[in-house]
Amino acid sequence: MSAKTGGGIHFPLGSSAATDPTELTLPLTSKKDIDPSRLERPLADLKGVGKITGRRLDELGLKTVRDLLLHMPFRHEQPSRISSVGSLSLGEEVTLQVRVTSCALHETRRRRVSILEALVCDESGSVLATWYNQPYLQGAFDERPEILIKGSLVRRRGVSSFLVKRHEILGETGESLHVLGLVPVYPTCGDLSVRTIRSLLHRATPEARHLVDPLPAPTLAKKRYSGRAEAVLSNHFPASVEEARRARERLAFEELLLLQLAVLGRRLKEDASRQARVLEVPGPLSRAYLDGLLFEPTAAQLRVVSEIERDLRRAVPMQRLLHGDVGSGKTMVAAYSMVRAVEGGGQAALMSPTEVLADQHMARLGPELGALGARVGLLKGSQTAGERRKIKTAIASGEIQVVIGTHALIQEGVRFSDLRVTVIDEQHRFGVRQREAIMAPGGAGTWPHTLHMSATPIPRTLSLTLYGDLDVSVLDELPPGRRPVRTRLVFGDSEARMWDFVREQLTRGKQAYVVCPLIEESESLQAASARQTFEELAVGELAGFRVRLLHGQLPTAEKADVMSSFSSGGVDALVSTSVIEVGVDVANATVMVIEGARRFGLSQLHQLRGRVGRGAEESYCFLMAEGEEETVLSRLALFARTNDGFALAEADLMARGEGQLFGERQSGFGDLEVASLFRDRRLLEEARALAEQVLARKLLPDASRRFLLAAAEERFGGRVTWMEKV
Ligand code: ADP
Ligand code: MG
Repeated sequence: MSAKTGGGIHFPLGSSAATDPTELTLPLTSKKDIDPSRLERPLADLKGVGKITGRRLDELGLKTVRDLLLHMPFRHEQPSRISSVGSLSLGEEVTLQVRVTSCALHETRRRRVSILEALVCDESGSVLATWYNQPYLQGAFDERPEILIKGSLVRRRGVSSFLVKRHEILGETGESLHVLGLVPVYPTCGDLSVRTIRSLLHRATPEARHLVDPLPAPTLAKKRYSGRAEAVLSNHFPASVEEARRARERLAFEELLLLQLAVLGRRLKEDASRQARVLEVPGPLSRAYLDGLLFEPTAAQLRVVSEIERDLRRAVPMQRLLHGDVGSGKTMVAAYSMVRAVEGGGQAALMSPTEVLADQHMARLGPELGALGARVGLLKGSQTAGERRKIKTAIASGEIQVVIGTHALIQEGVRFSDLRVTVIDEQHRFGVRQREAIMAPGGAGTWPHTLHMSATPIPRTLSLTLYGDLDVSVLDELPPGRRPVRTRLVFGDSEARMWDFVREQLTRGKQAYVVCPLIEESESLQAASARQTFEELAVGELAGFRVRLLHGQLPTAEKADVMSSFSSGGVDALVSTSVIEVGVDVANATVMVIEGARRFGLSQLHQLRGRVGRGAEESYCFLMAEGEEETVLSRLALFARTNDGFALAEADLMARGEGQLFGERQSGFGDLEVASLFRDRRLLEEARALAEQVLARKLLPDASRRFLLAAAEERFGGRVTWMEKV
């Protein structure tokens, strides 16, 4: 460890004292000297922070000394070597250490631009240095003419001058903060300059010794990490790139460990306080369900069923995330779990994010479970008040055993007589609170076993972070016979051929989806644009075929009618907004045309594409890509190349940022300050494993464990869930 007491990079300017190795270590502090409360001081206490700077820091979310110390640099600029004036060559970026001999300010005729010119020299010669638009520098060099300048030699109208990109006035110690060494670059905003942040940090770093280190000594030793205070120093002012990397890694590991402890700790607490009904071993009914299936379950489905079995036989409520690519057969797993509830004499609920989906589940599961003798009911907002009342009464009395529904299930004060299993379909479409509401205890004061289903394949880093308190099952196998959907980008010149192809498919009795561009800002705009496309196609490319329109603003009855006509083959082509994104299952649909494909994320596109390729027939997906720019095209080309939902989700994660994958509502990734889910996946796994051991009391003495848990609670604990920013 070689960050210096005061942080900063010492730079020998004649005095050799600055590189004295004894200066390169932190002062040994005894525990007595440590006073964490000093970190809570407002930044205004620091020298150099006046009202204005204070307000700007505040805007950046930096209020206390601690906040400042933990403000992470984006990166460090590579160190520059000092060159001499005599060896300057045009265009090359270099750093000079020079003395200012004279200085003059010019304003151009346009007056907007000011140029400061200074004659500067070192032992090898002199050169004219210029600064643009920094008139306040005039006079700045009078007292302290020794400066560092970084920039390059340029020639304008036959005159050569050194255009200064960055400079630093050297003080008595000759220390350089902004120019030499690995210079940290910080996120900033508005009028707060990186320089100011850097200088303040330089001043504040000695306070780092008051930081309490939550990482236990054995962990530090095992991973060869430095203490927290040292890591914070190295993080800002490292002596080498490697030192910076190690410091950041240590801080990221700490953050991920605290996160995992908070998330897993919360789950432990819930488990300890929540009772669920044990569902005894499967009986004839669940066997009848499996035997009655029209297909052979995949190995993945059977594996997940057995994972769920284990959960159901415990007196602790199941909290399981089931994710699997579109078409991987999640519904069967859900239905099985619900049958188990009914078999045990209780109730089950399945909540879907849209009425279209709830209707579809009802159409499938109603008869399927009904055939087993289960009484199945449907509850959704579009039913009349009278209907809903009747159904709610039947739920409360236990007459309905399986209820399929929408948000209505949680909005309408539904009471169950004995709810034992709940399934949340497309769970990422619900907010945290909504998911909590459907999990609330059923009639007998016990909690239902809950299965959270998601059709977006979730990269493990994300599931450990977003859903770290859930057990995870993955359906990583598609039913046999599925063929990858052939995906093509379509440009202006091939559009006509594409429509020929679509018409040919429709003539052969197949069906098609035409998806209109996503317009996130306004549902009514989106509906209008879909209507326009519909009207054009109906008399144009798709004239003579049965075409219908589907969007979110249609009356519910009409939506249901459109969907059921499409499902039964009474409609050839469905022009729709992205409302068909999730779950809709029409095996005879083999073509999808996606307009404005660039507006969708890759995972979303994958969801859309999953609507075709559901039967044994070859299926096709066309992305309209005329006039798109290079980056968009390469994204879409990646999509056309791969049918692997996980790979696409990862690409999304990388390209669109972590918060984007599931939408801002759910992510709250602002909470991760140091770690990056992408870069730090290995660390995350390590942190997860360590957190599990700590919570299982396998590792630390009680006192250190409690200390660590308290730190986790303080950092991530205070919210209902740390990710909730809804
Ligand atoms: P998702 O995981 O997208 O919800 P579904 O449960 O809707 O997928 O299943 C998609 C289609 O695949 C349904 O028509 C379903 O009947 C069928 N299916 C499910 N599992 C199998 C299987 N093991 N073999 C064949 N078809 C299956
Ligand atoms: Mg589904």
